[in-house]
Amino acid sequence: MTGIVFDIDDTLYVRQDMIVAAAEEVLGVKVSDPQEFISIYYAKSDINMDALEAGKIKTRDINGWRYEETFRILGLPYAPGDGVLTADKYLELQSHMELSQDLKEILDAFAEAPNIKLALFTSGKSSHQWNKVDMLGLLKWFDRDNIFVTGDIGISKPDVRLCRLIEDRLGLAPSDIWMIGDSYKHDITGAIDSGWHTIWINRRGLPSPDIRPDIEVAADEGLIAALAGLLPF
Ligand SMILES: [Mg+2]
Repeated sequence: MTGIVFDIDDTLYVRQDMIVAAAEEVLGVKVSDPQEFISIYYAKSDINMDALEAGKIKTRDINGWRYEETFRILGLPYAPGDGVLTADKYLELQSHMELSQDLKEILDAFAEAPNIKLALFTSGKSSHQWNKVDMLGLLKWFDRDNIFVTGDIGISKPDVRLCRLIEDRLGLAPSDIWMIGDSYKHDITGAIDSGWHTIWINRRGLPSPDIRPDIEVAADEGLIAALAGLLPF
């Protein structure tokens, strides 16, 4: 039996493109270096994650703040309030998102395989992450009991206690589990420390870390090929 555990954001769908597109629409400018924009925006995400998960800050406000910090650092023209407007625009774009056809097909294959158990393991506020589960139609492939949202549990990634919880729920040994995620720090280090196998989707082309994942891919094409390699036939 093999467990395959997926992160959601930038793993099952690509959030980065929507984050930049929302900013371009609200500000009416073209972002010249989308990777730099994403790097700054994501760097601001770690700062308030604990407060966000505890429900002390609203997602809309924190994302608005992250946007305005990114605008400020990049010297983009904005007025106070544009941050939350951009956060709203992003949510609007997100409400139309869906999984790629290739990903749907590989999840179908996993769901039909008798010796594979699927799980989701995602960071963030409970309601926000469960909304994405609904919007992406993920309950088609993932049992509700096998969906782990850090905001529900009260522990942030990466923490091996979260991995132990998932192992217990799936009834699998660490070496039988694969973690699939885009964040080396949040998805991959905790899994490696727990003795899991890992596929890192290095979408931002970051330098290779000292402690390597089992498999590193750059984008969806490589991800689909790597996942197909986990199928038992
Ligand atoms: Mg992610």
